[in-house]
Amino acid sequence: MSAVLQNPAGTAMRLEGVSKSYGVVKALDDVSIELRKGEFLTLLGPSGSGKTTLLRAIAGFIRPTAGRLLIDGRDMTGVPPQKRNIGMMFQDYALFPHMTVLENIGYPLETRGIRRAERETRGMEMLEIVGLAHCAKRYPKEMSGGQQQRVALARALVFRPDIVLLDEPMAALDKKLRGQMQIEIMHITRQVGATVVSVTHDQEEALVMSDRIAIFKDGRLEQIGTPHELYLQPRSEFVADFIGEANLLRGAVRSTGEGTVVEGDGWTASLPPGDPRSEALAKVRKACVVLRPERIHAVAAGSETENAGVGVIEDKIYLGVEYRLVVRMNDGGKVNLRSRDVASVAGMNAGDRIGMAWTVDDIVVIGA
Ligand code: ADP
Ligand code: MG
Repeated sequence: MSAVLQNPAGTAMRLEGVSKSYGVVKALDDVSIELRKGEFLTLLGPSGSGKTTLLRAIAGFIRPTAGRLLIDGRDMTGVPPQKRNIGMMFQDYALFPHMTVLENIGYPLETRGIRRAERETRGMEMLEIVGLAHCAKRYPKEMSGGQQQRVALARALVFRPDIVLLDEPMAALDKKLRGQMQIEIMHITRQVGATVVSVTHDQEEALVMSDRIAIFKDGRLEQIGTPHELYLQPRSEFVADFIGEANLLRGAVRSTGEGTVVEGDGWTASLPPGDPRSEALAKVRKACVVLRPERIHAVAAGSETENAGVGVIEDKIYLGVEYRLVVRMNDGGKVNLRSRDVASVAGMNAGDRIGMAWTVDDIVVIGA
């Protein structure tokens, strides 16, 4: 299909030490990212963490205070937006109300001096891809919100941009439609081989759509990785808490002949000798142990050994597919468990003492 982008291999974009200050506010602080062609990268972080600023810097609307931006190997740091080959779909994906759907999609081609016949051919190709070929002659007001959004996406892709930027594209849609559109946008951008940088503050959206996720905090890139890597190997409490549900147990670090132990009141997490995770703990006395709720197993109180803890069940909630338990630890901290092991959990009730066990593989340690 001719709408597919050429040359899918290689680096699409490099950000090198990009910073942007507004007075004393560092909206972006020394951000470096390399993006592969055809990759879908999501910038995820709380409000004010610098996501939109980074997108605007890539688009060329703001100039970084420091650092460089290379697109397809060329330094684009000072190049104006209209000279960058970038497609955009922002929150208010306003279509031109006086133009038909096909004319809307053809508009970026028109501004690039492409003749009507080719505009219509390429516009129709994009409409096929987004599943709206039957709507070519309609006006935007005759379309639903989700359909309008697909038109906006087609318009952002039609001129085969080097990079497509999406800023909270789903924010205006209701929850159900948002879920459908996440999957559709992911399929469509993959189908045409587009390289995408998308912004969201919704972790589920990031997990659904992305090849990699870049997590931002206070203008800094906290961690970048596949959804799986971020879930299994968060390098900070912030990331652990931002991706999925995390139990954060803070304890003291002790080195023994048998490895390294992090322990608190009524729980221990033990790493065997030579375990690479111990390196992060070599020079610290306190650490945070991250345990995912589905990796903690409920066991009878008193049967736990190492890599285990005790507590009192505060809440037990049945959700059909699983039980959720909230357990109060000796130090007053709470731990969440999710268990599908109905047989072992059914007899446990709020107020009971409970043992909890995990395996070495399920421990993530973060030095504090
Ligand atoms: P996000 O998109 O993650 O919510 P932004 O990139 O919009 O965050 O903002 C990052 C930080 O930079 C915030 O503290 C914000 O207040 C500040 N900021 C963004 N744009 C401007 C501006 N034009 N002038 C001053 N401060 C700004
Ligand atoms: Mg924003």
